Amino acid sequence: MFTRYFSLGRKILFSSLLLGTVVALLAGCFQLMIFHHKRAEQFDSIAHDLQKYLNNYFGELLTTIDKLQPLTLSHCENVAAELTSRAAFSLNVRAFLLVDNGNAFCSSATGEMSVPMKQLVPQVDVTKALDLSILPGTPMMPQRAAFALWVRSPLLENRGVFTSINASLMPWILYSSRQNQFSGISVVANGIAVSTFSPNPQPVSMLREKPIRSAKIDGLPLTVNVYGDAWASENMQFSLLMGVMCGLLSGLLCYYVLSVRLRPGKEITSAIKRNQFYVVYQPVVEAENMQIRGVEVLMRWKHPTAGEIPPDAFINFAEAQQLIVPLTRHLFDLIAKDAPVLQRMLPPGAKLGINIAPAHLLADSFKQDLRDLSSMLPPNYFQLVLEITERDMLNQRQAVSLFEWLHHEGYEIAIDDFGTGHSALIYLERYSFDYLKIDRGFVNAIGTETVTSPVLDAVLSLARKMNIVTVAEGVETQEQASWLRQHGVNFMQGYWISRPLTLEKLLEAHAKPENYFTTG
Ligand code: C2E
Ligand code: CA
Ligand code: CA
Repeated sequence: MFTRYFSLGRKILFSSLLLGTVVALLAGCFQLMIFHHKRAEQFDSIAHDLQKYLNNYFGELLTTIDKLQPLTLSHCENVAAELTSRAAFSLNVRAFLLVDNGNAFCSSATGEMSVPMKQLVPQVDVTKALDLSILPGTPMMPQRAAFALWVRSPLLENRGVFTSINASLMPWILYSSRQNQFSGISVVANGIAVSTFSPNPQPVSMLREKPIRSAKIDGLPLTVNVYGDAWASENMQFSLLMGVMCGLLSGLLCYYVLSVRLRPGKEITSAIKRNQFYVVYQPVVEAENMQIRGVEVLMRWKHPTAGEIPPDAFINFAEAQQLIVPLTRHLFDLIAKDAPVLQRMLPPGAKLGINIAPAHLLADSFKQDLRDLSSMLPPNYFQLVLEITERDMLNQRQAVSLFEWLHHEGYEIAIDDFGTGHSALIYLERYSFDYLKIDRGFVNAIGTETVTSPVLDAVLSLARKMNIVTVAEGVETQEQASWLRQHGVNFMQGYWISRPLTLEKLLEAHAKPENYFTTG
């Protein structure tokens, strides 16, 4: 479970960046969608309002025109006054013209007349029941655009009413000036548009933009268009800002949570506080007589969720997290706590083998930590043996001076896992140490590989010649034990003798005389 923490810093950074980016994208898009939706709603409501306004206006106008239709039967002089007053009371109407047989014979503005409609307003088709067009101007107001509306009488053949209406978009421009999300309006009849883009009517094809909303006016060939951008740049900027802020915040929060709150190193520190570490002791016996001469102290972690975590995993992990020093100090405390019980079981001078991680050897506090341990143990009872693997051996000069200091202070040194490193034999000559712990790989090979195990044989005879005391690790069978004894191994350790035991189990084993090893 701990290998995942090894490139921790990078993983945390990567996760935070990933989360930040995802959140930034999501928040930005979400904000943009909200803006977009709001904008769409506003466009809908503007188009709807304009359509409603025009429907009402032209609805009323058509009702007025219906009322004017019977006047086309009368002489102009008889109806001119009524025509004029109707025009005066109809909003935006410039003039009503009564038409008989294609001839305009009465105007609300100028009274009696006689001009063919074809000549007067060629844009409208009086043969149709209803026609609507847009004119650049009318005789009275030549510069101001006007709607030209022709309505044929439904009952009286060849008669009808023509109306010219102001096509100024002023009220809508005023309206639009309050709504900054759209850029313009146009009203289109017969392919001609009056718009807020130009003072004069122009063909629809000349309008620059495509409308974002269009609405038809009831009963008339008239369309009102709204123009604008579906996406506003200020909304995009705001969404971007929002996304960046949310991303940054969540990235930082993630970084904080992962690196500060859930920092894996914290697991070790909190496991120390919660007393999740404990120690087991594996007896080391003298090969000659199977008498227990000491124990190797091995640490265990009972994790509340992950269960028992093997030391190979958490020791490396603690080293990677720079937590090996506090962890070893904790180990020292645990040993000191057990020491009075151990003292009752083990003979005076019994060896306590303690594994020392290389990072701890190099730590400034190492010497003081050892002195603290010694001071916590019963005085002059145990012999501390520091187990250091040859793999992790320090550079030569450091090692020589450290070994000297250790010996001077009364500690013994064991080279652990001997045979698993590369330059094993060089160490035998170079360093003064007390025990050689032969790796269980060699011991395993006894009786399987070759009958004689020549390498182990050579190592043991060399050690004997150099007066180095040997400890065989991982002795699992009686066959191995006999072989090792015959070849002059001094001490043995392994499952055949005893598994690593908790203090209670060690006490039980001590009480039972049928054990392989004896504690007397
Ligand atoms: P190690 O120092 O070589 O410890 C001996 C390992 O061999 C122990 O494993 C022990 O349980 C196991 N062992 C003993 N007899 C036999 C046997 O007959 N057969 C087999 N197959 N295995 C046997 P453990 O306790 O899992 O520890 C593994 C390693 O973790 C240790 O190897 C040591 O390097 C490290 N370690 C354990 N406790 C500590 C500690 O307190 N501090 C430090 N720095 N390292 C520790
Ligand atoms: Ca060891
Ligand atoms: Ca070992």
